[in-house]
Amino acid sequence: MPQRTIAIIGAGIGGLTAAVALRQAGFEVDIYEQAPELTEVGGGINMGPNATRILYRLGFGDALDREAVRPASTHQRRWQDGRTLQRAPLNPRCEELYGAPHLTVHRADLLSIIASGFPAERVHVGHRLVGSSDRGDHVEAWFENGARITADVVIGADGIHSALRATLFGAEAPVFAGCVAYRGLVPVERVADLGLEIGSQSWVGPGGHFVHYFVAGGRLLNFVGWTEHDTWNREDWTDRATVARALTAFEGWHPQVRRIISAAETCFVWALFDREPLPRWSVGRATLLGDACHPMYPFMGQGAAQAIEDGVTLTACLVAGEGGAPAEALSRYEELRRPRVTRLQEMSRANKTRFHLADGPSQEARDAEWARARDRGPDALRWLYDFDASTLR
Ligand SMILES: Cc1cc2nc3c(=O)[nH]c(=O)nc-3n(C[C@H](O)[C@H](O)[C@H](O)COP(=O)(O)OP(=O)(O)OC[C@H]3O[C@@H](n4cnc5c(N)ncnc54)[C@H](O)[C@@H]3O)c2cc1C
Repeated sequence: MPQRTIAIIGAGIGGLTAAVALRQAGFEVDIYEQAPELTEVGGGINMGPNATRILYRLGFGDALDREAVRPASTHQRRWQDGRTLQRAPLNPRCEELYGAPHLTVHRADLLSIIASGFPAERVHVGHRLVGSSDRGDHVEAWFENGARITADVVIGADGIHSALRATLFGAEAPVFAGCVAYRGLVPVERVADLGLEIGSQSWVGPGGHFVHYFVAGGRLLNFVGWTEHDTWNREDWTDRATVARALTAFEGWHPQVRRIISAAETCFVWALFDREPLPRWSVGRATLLGDACHPMYPFMGQGAAQAIEDGVTLTACLVAGEGGAPAEALSRYEELRRPRVTRLQEMSRANKTRFHLADGPSQEARDAEWARARDRGPDALRWLYDFDASTLR
């Protein structure tokens, strides 16, 4: 049985998944979360089989089958006339190909499902990390509330503004990525007249794109509408925008898009921030995971999925390295993870340009390429979906 004690900073999707995986492997794990309680706001999340496979293995299958939705298809369409650019089956195709479904789920549901696999008394809320120091044979960390803790290994799963990252590599503010999202949830009865298939649709147009899919066992339709902006001076998942403002941002778009926005009671606005990829994630007995080390634009739908993968690879490295120096296990973890997440960071960035092309020759070339390559469906994403993060390869 592993003897090490592990402190995880941050109880988001990444931190909680890592905590469950490490605990199931026999480690003594505690989580320190800045918020006074565990919460996730901001609507839905799309998860490919590379992530759902992990969650099913960790024991969350029944809860996910209850709370999540299995979209039948993914459908890319033109912003104005709704013409199909690509369409591919998602379920049961993902299970046939990769042994796990593609799911769409409300973030709060996902967070509480994962949290149910970890003892609540070991999640220390109200603990905002402010510093840490490697003492050679252990790490010490301290918090804004005055608490100090020690652990054999500390893992920063504290998101894009990671305090542990700043402690290890110096403070550097993330940069506004020139994109803002309008996000909303609509009770399905309000859009019943649209006769939507239980699937995921994304509409691409000049300077923006709009995505919608079902969450909460099919009771809610989640939407995210991205538009490009030059500046932004706030950064908050829960900043309110008016529905009218979102409708203005999607002026001239297909009636289905506008109908979905107007069916929302309220919507939230969220700004996209970015960081350059880090050359390393670990120093001694401390490492990072998820958005703390590799935030990515959500245009491959893989940010949370990669945080989930990080947790199981990290667990496998610590198990394999039991008895050796923790720093070696952490180095192995980041060596295994960095090429994959860097590729996804780059692809996600490229999709911002690709999805937002103005109508004209480049957009026509993209549409022709999509029709030919059909690269958004699960058959074309074997490298991404067939990957087993618990295998040390
Ligand atoms: C609009 C949008 C849509 C997205 N869609 C998808 C999608 O479909 N699929 C997908 O896989 N990903 C998606 N993503 C990306 C995904 O949401 C993130 O990559 C993921 O949530 C990162 O998880 P995390 O656990 O690393 O960080 P976070 O979720 O940010 O969690 C960090 C946690 O650390 C805590 N914390 C922060 N600082 C401290 C501190 N100093 N001390 C203690 N605790 C601290 C925070 O309170 C928080 O609980 C999307 C993102 C956006 C914005």
